[in-house]
Amino acid sequence: MQISFHGAARTVTGSKHLISLKNGKKLLLDCGMFQGMGRQTDELNSQFGFHPTEVNYLVLSHAHIDHSGLIPKLYKEGFRGTVFCTSGTKDLCKVLLIDSAEIQQADTKYINRKRLKKGLPLFEPMFSTEDVKNCLELFSTVEYDKWVSIDDEIKLLFTDAGHIIGSAAVNLQLVEDENTTRITFSGDVGRYADAILKSPEECPQADYLILESTYGNRLHEEVKDSAEAFLGWIIKTCLEKKGKLIIPAFSVGRTQQLLYMLNQLENKNKLPALTYFVDSPMSLEATEVIENHPENFNPVLLDVLLHDNDPFKFKGLKYIKTVDESKQINFFNEPCVIISSSGMAEAGRVKHHIKNNIEDPKNTILMVGHASPFSLAGKLMNGVKQVDIYGRDLIVKAEIGKMGGMSAHGDYNDLCHFISNQDQNKIKKLFLVHGEYDVQTQFAEKLMQKGFDVEIPGMNYALTLGN
Ligand SMILES: [Zn+2]
Repeated sequence: MQISFHGAARTVTGSKHLISLKNGKKLLLDCGMFQGMGRQTDELNSQFGFHPTEVNYLVLSHAHIDHSGLIPKLYKEGFRGTVFCTSGTKDLCKVLLIDSAEIQQADTKYINRKRLKKGLPLFEPMFSTEDVKNCLELFSTVEYDKWVSIDDEIKLLFTDAGHIIGSAAVNLQLVEDENTTRITFSGDVGRYADAILKSPEECPQADYLILESTYGNRLHEEVKDSAEAFLGWIIKTCLEKKGKLIIPAFSVGRTQQLLYMLNQLENKNKLPALTYFVDSPMSLEATEVIENHPENFNPVLLDVLLHDNDPFKFKGLKYIKTVDESKQINFFNEPCVIISSSGMAEAGRVKHHIKNNIEDPKNTILMVGHASPFSLAGKLMNGVKQVDIYGRDLIVKAEIGKMGGMSAHGDYNDLCHFISNQDQNKIKKLFLVHGEYDVQTQFAEKLMQKGFDVEIPGMNYALTLGN
C-alpha cells in the first residue's frame, strides 16, 4: 500500500492524507481546507492532488475546518463514498460547514460585484450550502473505543483525542497479502488537563504513526486557576474602570471554555452582576452541540452536571443572533463583557466591537488564544499604538490583556505523553504532519533521540508502506 500527503504537510492547515491499497481501494484521512496562507490559499484549495471519484472512504478525525472544510468540494467533484466520524464530529460539521459555505457565498458575491463592474468573468464559490447538505448524507457515525469493519480489508477504531467535541485519533488495521498493517493518525491532540474535555486516550500499538506537531517545540504557559484570572480582568475592567471587556474568541470550543469559567464563578457566588454578551451567529448552536455530547466531558465536569444541569449558562448571559442586535450593543452604556468571534479579530462582529471601543481607556480587549502576528489580535498583542480597522485609523487607548493557557492543542509534553505507550522499536516510521517546518524539525530531533524513525513529508509526497 501507499500513503501520500496532500495537506498539513510542513504547514498547519489542509489536513489530507491518502492511503491507497493494492486492490485499488482508497481511504482518505481528513479532507481539510487550507486557511490563512495568503495568496496561495485559493490555489492550494483548488486541487486535491487525487481524484475525488476514486476515493472509497473518508475517515474524519474532527470537525475543525482545516480537517473537514473541503468535504463539500469533494462531494461536488464526485466523491460518493462513506464518511466515517464520531457523532460529535457529525453534529459540529453540520454547524461549521454550513457556516463555511455561507461565508464563501457572501465573499464570492462581494468579489463578483466588483468583477461585474470591470467586465471580468465571475467567480463561483468553492461549494454551496446545498453541497454541504448533500455531503452530510454520506456521514456514518462510529462510537469511540469499538473496532468496526469498514470492509473485509479495513478495520477502524476511534479513540478520544481530547481536542474538541467529537475529536478522535484514527486507528486502522489494513490487510493486504494476508498481512496486517496498523496505522494510527493522531488527528489533533488535546491536553491532559482540559477544563471541559477528557484527556487524550491511549492508542493501540501502531506500525506507522502519523502525528500532529503544532506545538511540538514548546510548552504551554501553566495557569493555576483560569477562572480566577478571568474574574480579575472582569473586576478591573467592568467594576473598577466601568468599561467594556471585549474578548475575541472562536465560536466553537473557546467560547464555551469562557462560559464554563463564568458558570464556575457563579457557582462560587463570585460572578459580578453584569451583562455577558455572546455575539457570534454560530455560538448558540455550537454550545448546544457541545452540551449534547457528554461522552467527551472529563470527570470533573460530569460531577458538576450532577448539581448544575447547564454548566454553560449563568445569570446575565445573553446570546446575540442578528446583526441589528449586535449593533445595539454599541448603545449599551453599562459595563459589560462581550465574547465575540473571530478569534484572531480578522473578521466577524468582534472587529466592529474593537473598532467602537478601542479608543476609550476604560475598556479592555482580552486575548485568549493564539493569533498570527499579521492578524488584528496579533498586532494588538504585539503592542501597536495605532491600527486601521475598516479604513479608520484608530489610536489604541484601551488596555490590551492576555490570558494564557487555553490552547486546545497539546504542547511538547502532551504530544510525548500521547505516544508514550508506543514501542518505538515496533514503529517503522513516524510521520510528522500539521506543523510549521521549523517546529517539526526541532520536534523530530527530540523524537529521534527517543529512538523513533521520523519523517516530515512535504506536499504530495508519497511512500510505499511495508508490512
Ligand atoms: Zn483541530
